[in-house]
Amino acid sequence: MLILFGPPGSGKGTQAAFVSKLLSIPAISTGDLLRAEAQRDTPQGRALRAHLATGELVSDETVGRLLARRLAEPSCRRGFLLDGYPRTVAQARSLASLLKDRALPEPEVLYLRVPDDHLLKRLSGRQQCPVCGHIYNDYFQPPAKPGICDNDGAALTHRSDDREDVIRERLAVYHRDTEPVLSYYRNGIFHIVDASGAEQQVHNAIEPFLLPAPALTR
Ligand code: ADP
Repeated sequence: MLILFGPPGSGKGTQAAFVSKLLSIPAISTGDLLRAEAQRDTPQGRALRAHLATGELVSDETVGRLLARRLAEPSCRRGFLLDGYPRTVAQARSLASLLKDRALPEPEVLYLRVPDDHLLKRLSGRQQCPVCGHIYNDYFQPPAKPGICDNDGAALTHRSDDREDVIRERLAVYHRDTEPVLSYYRNGIFHIVDASGAEQQVHNAIEPFLLPAPALTR
């Protein structure tokens, strides 16, 4: 199994889709799992929605529960890619025991490295089409007409946590809680990728680490 590791805005979602297609394995984003859960019109759904808008991490227990449920699905049997997990050293430890219980090999980690000042622009300029899912950026990949999707004319939306104050908080949380996970994996199968370039450049930088396909299952 693979872990795509990197700060918010490092392009994990975009690269996860690319890797998933290349290796024919599902890409599992804990951010997406949480946002789907937060859409529910229940007290828990509403509480989660409010929590996500602050940029703080969700508890290890909640994320662990959602992830375990997803990993139990048959589509994960032939390997999977994690995007946004583990985000704390405690999560890295739970993942290690989950893999051990299932007799799966240790994970292969791809670290997408991007400097903070660049991340700020990527995140504050990010807009997504609610219809086709395409992601634009006001600074790097603006749509032809501001605020409108080139593909289907839908009005583009910002994620609730892509406001500048929340972005600063997410970066602070990343440095404080998530960066220590790097030392946890340093001695394992660990690759550093310069992810500050354009999407295709990052694909090209990642690809050599994936071919031949890494050991996803035993
Ligand atoms: P980004 O990496 O751009 O911040 P994600 O979609 O990965 O975006 O995550 C969005 C939010 O979901 C995070 O700010 C955090 O609140 C929550 N989240 C996602 N993954 C985890 C995780 N593994 N542990 C705790 N919280 C998480």
